[in-house]
Amino acid sequence: MSRLVLKFGGTSVGDVDRIRNVAAKVKAVADAGNEVAVVVSAMAGTTDQLVGLVRDIDPRGDLREYDVVVSAGEQISVGLLAIALQSLGCRARSWLGWQLPVRCDSAHGAARILGIDADAVVTAMANGDIAVVPGFQGVSPDGRVTTLGRGGSDTSAVALAAAVGADRCDIYTDVDGVYTCDPRIVTRARKLDRITYEEMLEMASQGAKVLQTRSVVMALKHRVPIQVLSSFADVPGTLVVDEEDIVEDETISGIAYAPGEAKITLVRVADRPGVAASIFGPLANAGVNVDMIVQNVSEDGKSTDVTFTVGRDDVARALKVIEGVRDEIEYERVQADPDVVKISVIGVGMRSHAGVAHTMFRALAEKGINIQTITTSEIKISVLIAEDYKELALRTLHTAYGLDA
Ligand code: ADP
Ligand code: ASP
Ligand code: MG
Repeated sequence: MSRLVLKFGGTSVGDVDRIRNVAAKVKAVADAGNEVAVVVSAMAGTTDQLVGLVRDIDPRGDLREYDVVVSAGEQISVGLLAIALQSLGCRARSWLGWQLPVRCDSAHGAARILGIDADAVVTAMANGDIAVVPGFQGVSPDGRVTTLGRGGSDTSAVALAAAVGADRCDIYTDVDGVYTCDPRIVTRARKLDRITYEEMLEMASQGAKVLQTRSVVMALKHRVPIQVLSSFADVPGTLVVDEEDIVEDETISGIAYAPGEAKITLVRVADRPGVAASIFGPLANAGVNVDMIVQNVSEDGKSTDVTFTVGRDDVARALKVIEGVRDEIEYERVQADPDVVKISVIGVGMRSHAGVAHTMFRALAEKGINIQTITTSEIKISVLIAEDYKELALRTLHTAYGLDA
């Protein structure tokens, strides 16, 4: 007998038949003698629709009220799933985030979970009842409803698994595991039996949306074993494990892409101490998240170019900030390019294999794809390229690293 938290994403509960299918799956896991709690997302499309309603009234509307609206999708799906479970003869009940509560900070729209008071869920599970809990929702210290950022139900599930001391958190979704690359784009992508926490963290943070980044951070911190598997097919999924539990010796485990980035270049910025701080300090204060940063060596000792990337939604705000510090940093002009994508190759094997970067650069060069910016970490190499080449680059690299199925 195990104590399990099962999470079902939006597509998995996308209509009434699918909710019935989820209920049957949950019942089967419970009937096998496991203690079960379920975390569900809003039905597919619902959260987008709610976000759209808020934007239609005021794109810069009060984030506390935004959270009241967009958290509503999960209220519907927990209730429907509890009813579907009851109709199969299970004892089930739902809670909302504020009722447990799921305690969050007050960063509305992107709140962090501080802790979950899970006594009620543990009691229900111990009684053989099925607890149904909404993903994505929480409550701030001053009692306001919060949401965790898009894709946040994964994080709710892992946090609940940590809080109830679950043996595993099973993330049921519309793919049957974590693949070497997004299977929607690279049809030859292979399902991984196992992936390390560290690689999964890089994959998620570099754009693979199969798990929300924060859910992996939380799993690592609380040592929660995660399995990613299909809501629709009864096949083994992917286990997220420690590095010593990996048997294969692959150099690269996966390739991810992050659309939605934009490149900003400051041409001929003064080359003297303090200039980088004068650029990135005000950007941070304005809440603009900067990802890649490249500064060239100055040829004449007087000026240089600085390039960085931000989210596409942040370009206008970033340009306004840069305009505001023009006198201080004395740049000649500023250019923004929203048509870029970041491609990353990821693998713990990179630590012990040489030539990984060369393979990437050569493969892209052979296809005539120009690399605009490069950054690396111990287990990842990222390049920024023109968005038009996204699919070609992903497929080319997938083949170059021998990942094709
Ligand atoms: P859910 O609604 O269940 O949370 P998501 O849409 O958030 O599901 O995540 C699943 C999607 O993640 C898949 O449909 C797939 O297109 C995408 N994805 C991106 N990269 C990968 C990858 N490396 N492996 C599997 N799926 C991936
Ligand atoms: N419903 C939320 C969203 O669409 C949370 C989630 O599905 O994980 O982002
Ligand atoms: Mg998701």
